[in-house]
Amino acid sequence: MRSDQPHPNLWYPYSPIGGMPVPLRVVRGRGAHLELEDGRTLLDCISSWWVNLHGHANPRIAAAIRDQAERLEHVIFAGFTHEPAERLAEVLTTALPAPLSRVFYSDDGSTAVEVALKMACQYWRNRGEARRSFLAFEGAYHGDTFGAMAAGARSVFTETYTELLFEVVHLPFPATWIGDEGVAAREAAALGRLEAALEAEPARYAALVVEPLVQGAGGMRMCRPEFLRGVERLARAHGVLLVFDEVMTGFGRSGDWFACARADVRPDLICLAKGLTGGFLPMAATVASAEIYEAFVSPDPGKALWHGHSYTANPLGCAAALASFELLVEAEAVFRGMETHHLRFLESLDGTIATKPRVTGTIAAFDLETGEPGYLNRVRDAVRERALDRGLLLRPLGNTVYLMPPYCITDEERQGMYSGVRAVVEEITHLAP
Ligand SMILES: *Cc1c(COP(=O)(O)O)cnc(C)c1O
Repeated sequence: MRSDQPHPNLWYPYSPIGGMPVPLRVVRGRGAHLELEDGRTLLDCISSWWVNLHGHANPRIAAAIRDQAERLEHVIFAGFTHEPAERLAEVLTTALPAPLSRVFYSDDGSTAVEVALKMACQYWRNRGEARRSFLAFEGAYHGDTFGAMAAGARSVFTETYTELLFEVVHLPFPATWIGDEGVAAREAAALGRLEAALEAEPARYAALVVEPLVQGAGGMRMCRPEFLRGVERLARAHGVLLVFDEVMTGFGRSGDWFACARADVRPDLICLAKGLTGGFLPMAATVASAEIYEAFVSPDPGKALWHGHSYTANPLGCAAALASFELLVEAEAVFRGMETHHLRFLESLDGTIATKPRVTGTIAAFDLETGEPGYLNRVRDAVRERALDRGLLLRPLGNTVYLMPPYCITDEERQGMYSGVRAVVEEITHLAP
């Protein structure tokens, strides 16, 4: 196959087809690096769309998958069970805050969110209340299936389907950054709006859906833990369920095991995917509190959650997740410590067009002050190309540049990433009018 044009039988995700750059062919991955067919290597500064935790082709996860594949590759999960699914459920519920105790497996972040929305809606129905609406935040991203799109912000991604999306009330999100002096006022205003919505129609909302601490695809917009505690207080006061979409922030990304732990908030439902298998296999989990589960315990078929997927609780995915979790325990100091390094790097961008520097755990971000903000800002292509020339894989979200490396990154690789990105930002600063 010629490598100077896109494959004639493929349709790539998130890629406008006219004029799209030819995809780079990857032949191998090792640690934080990817090796291209043309011999170049790239440092994966974004963990391949935020899924990879321990590096590419990690031998321990690979071995766990191989061992499991030789024993049991898959089995129907209704009426049957298996040890990897049970062990993983124990590991996850032990690591999560106490009320989260029932694990429902699915396939990816979007389906984990769908399951949470359905559980929340039916929780109220099973208790005899018709709460059908949801609350979420402006700028949110919860996935690309219809329910997940409805929960997310309306944007260029969803505009084709607007009339098909069910109603969700989107509230202001008090995004903040280092040196932001207006944050307390914006938080108070956002909490005021939330409180007003809840007081106006107390029995309308089934749940409030949040990406805790960091809104990912919306531009790595970060909020303070204080704000989430305020949100939790209001949700509790009005009996609305709190859903944490930790598809991106889970498994150390926030600098703690989960963002809910870092923010000291106890959600009723949590959605996990991306890092769950260390980036090896598509798999997700929605974990519910005991109280939610109780509302489904009934011989009445109308009270059951009629949801499942062909590959629910796939044993290979469970085996990968168990191996990944063991590696995560060993990497705890790394994901807790990365914030300090990121902070120092962000300080070194002083004097460039980088603005709104921000960091949460292993995620560092800043905006480039050029052109219109937003996902379609062209500066992202310039940054991506210049980073590639320096052997770095970046994928800016419009004018937002972010770093989210795998935890296996060495000190030397991390320094190389920082100096490369700084050089790119300096070049673009000099080009800017
Ligand atoms: C990526 C993402 C999703 C969707 O996950 P997919 O696996 O791509 O379906 C949902 N929520 C958040 C916060 C995400 O970052």
